[in-house]
Amino acid sequence: MILRQLAEGRREVENQYGRVVPYDGNMRALEVLSEVFELRPHFEWRGLGFISQSALRLSPAYADFDAEERFAVPGVRVADPKACQCGEVLKGVIKPWECKVFGTACTPERPIGTCMVSPEGACAAYYNYGRFAREREVV
Ligand code: SF4
Repeated sequence: MILRQLAEGRREVENQYGRVVPYDGNMRALEVLSEVFELRPHFEWRGLGFISQSALRLSPAYADFDAEERFAVPGVRVADPKACQCGEVLKGVIKPWECKVFGTACTPERPIGTCMVSPEGACAAYYNYGRFAREREVV
């Protein structure tokens, strides 16, 4: 599909899986999701803070399977270290290499923030691949 777009000079989002996911979504999957889950009024995302109606939780019908109901989990908050700017990276405010500790104090071998921990994290991806492209641009 991408090659066809390239050949035809088009740039657009296309759905390769239209057979199972039509424009209005997979109705059976949506039914199951709405039966099992309900929207949380608000949720605190690491690095992003509280965002209303941005996360799901198990619906009361599935409370027996809900670890939050079954176990006493105190309000766990994992704050990013002060030097870390993952929140700004995630929001697109800064690029990973604009963080003060990118590639110096924070590397995949010694990550400070979550964006550097896993290979698909924005900072790790830029560290492993993006910096080479930037170095070529500078030269
Ligand atoms: S993961 Fe590391 S480089 Fe990325 S924003 Fe956090 S501290 Fe900075």
